[in-house]
Amino acid sequence: MAVNTNDLMSTIVSLAKRRGFIFQSSEIYGGLNSCWDYGPLGVELKRNVKDAWWRAMVTNRRDVVGLDASILMHPKVWEASGHLTGFSDPMVDCKKCKERFRADHLENLDKCPKPKCGGELTEVRKFNLMFKTFMGPVEDSSATVYMRPETAQGIFVNFLNVQQSSRLKPPFGIAQIGKSFRNEITPGNFTYRTREFEQMEMEFFVPPTEDEKWYGYWRDARLQWYKDYGIKPDHLRLRDHEKDELAHYAKACVDVEYLFPFGWSELEGIANRTDYDLKQHEQFSGKGMAYFDDESKSHYHPFVVEPAAGADRATLAFLVDAYHVEGEGKDERVVLRFHPALAPVKVAVLPLVKKDGMPEMGEKIYRDLLDNSIKSFYDHTASIGRRYARQDEAGTPFCVTIDTQSLEDQTVTVRERDSREQYRVASSELVGLIQKKMRESMK
Ligand code: ATP
Repeated sequence: MAVNTNDLMSTIVSLAKRRGFIFQSSEIYGGLNSCWDYGPLGVELKRNVKDAWWRAMVTNRRDVVGLDASILMHPKVWEASGHLTGFSDPMVDCKKCKERFRADHLENLDKCPKPKCGGELTEVRKFNLMFKTFMGPVEDSSATVYMRPETAQGIFVNFLNVQQSSRLKPPFGIAQIGKSFRNEITPGNFTYRTREFEQMEMEFFVPPTEDEKWYGYWRDARLQWYKDYGIKPDHLRLRDHEKDELAHYAKACVDVEYLFPFGWSELEGIANRTDYDLKQHEQFSGKGMAYFDDESKSHYHPFVVEPAAGADRATLAFLVDAYHVEGEGKDERVVLRFHPALAPVKVAVLPLVKKDGMPEMGEKIYRDLLDNSIKSFYDHTASIGRRYARQDEAGTPFCVTIDTQSLEDQTVTVRERDSREQYRVASSELVGLIQKKMRESMK
């Protein structure tokens, strides 16, 4: 993966700031490296991405349930999972400019890759990526706890709690969305690689003989999910891990990759984690982690197929893929062609002028949309062209204008973002129309 962002990436970073999608964390203090804050439009976009994932993985399925485990867990969890000893990246430091690099991201380990430096590099060392903190008032080693580097372990340790309380039989899944923390050596590419991020993970527990079937199923389903929400198919690909790339516990792993401006990069990994995690926790906790199968009257450890995605990476991919510049000269427009379900704002209500009762009618329509939980925006400033342009740039799929005719016959004009098609509807039918369009976009 190339490290430098190109022009498109910097355009998106500045659009994200200008329109309130993403700001640098603690900006007034000079920022904090690799930390980002989601502004009013960004938080809606990211919530919609997480909701779309939860719908596909939990709400619309009979075989997956949800969980919200705590970020801090018993330190033994990370011994059992292998993170304490094995969760490290190889790093090197430049002796001259003091910059730190991931050794496995460098082509040449002889000298610093920064063109103006070229200094000598240190030996490759292992660097554990887990953040440490202390629990309680005493800061000694017995109080050390870790910020979870993945949400998956919270699912494994709760496997029997969930299975027994919900009376589930394999194949079934447990899904979770939550923050994870990794002290990445080289974060970068905007929100692509950060030290605090949100994951969307699901562990699917299956009888050991069915692992390959379900691995194939989830690989295809997860690729399709990105396409369903509008990512261009030629910007997506699956990449199988080579044998030497596989985590020690994994039987197979495939990444869903997206063609970012900085190159093909991982959005999500689908792994066959075998029965490794359950057996490790059984060994380290001394508590049985096997499932009791009522039919055969025997215990077994299910195999686990895990689709593990990043909410921030997915949000960035949806933002980048939605970005379009169309037309030329004074007809040029920047438009974010978000899938309607992901768009931060669904409808903008725009009275043509700020007089003659148009704002009052607009306010009423706006209220009606909000009362129906349709995230909307009201604006009666500036020319209508400027207001359309602002909404295109925010990715709002529908604009509704109120004009003189509206006051006479109670109709409004709907303007669609992508086609710029305009048509009149009775204002009393507007909510129903938007709801229908939103439903249709989900099919
Ligand atoms: P990478 O190779 O990019 O470091 P990974 O293979 O270690 O990622 P996983 O452990 O499989 O990642 O985590 C699952 C998902 O969590 C990733 O596909 C990604 O979407 C997200 N993720 C992992 N690390 C980060 C990070 N530092 N910043 C943002 N998202 C991340």
